[in-house]
Amino acid sequence: MSHNCIFCKIVGRSIISTILYEDARILAFEDTKPQAPIHILVIPKVHYSNILEAAEDMPLLGDMLTAVMRLAREKGIADDGFRTVINTGPNGGQTVYHLHIHLLGGRFFKWPPG
Ligand code: AMP
Ligand code: ZN
Repeated sequence: MSHNCIFCKIVGRSIISTILYEDARILAFEDTKPQAPIHILVIPKVHYSNILEAAEDMPLLGDMLTAVMRLAREKGIADDGFRTVINTGPNGGQTVYHLHIHLLGGRFFKWPPG
């Protein structure tokens, strides 16, 4: 638990969010500033600042991707397709330094990203 981390506060329920999935190690909730009709964040409950820190726990990363896939199916975006994003560091555009996977869907996304 990192005390100044908003996602740790969401895990601890001191900040309210719309939770869509939870298990012992993972939480998924709606992004408050959605960039698409479906915009979900999948996070580990334990605080890792970024994916590089979480490399010590590859099974956790696999479980996060499993949650992404389950949510994509549940939200009905699996067939049309969706985008998964993990921003890392300043050049990656990361703004919250608690590892999260963005699951975006419900519209077409351009490539390459801006
Ligand atoms: P990133 O720029 O990859 O670090 O993404 C951080 C994401 O967290 C952004 O899409 C924000 O809209 C989202 N966000 C920030 N605060 C909250 C919050 N309290 N609840 C849900 N999503 C949040
Ligand atoms: Zn945190």
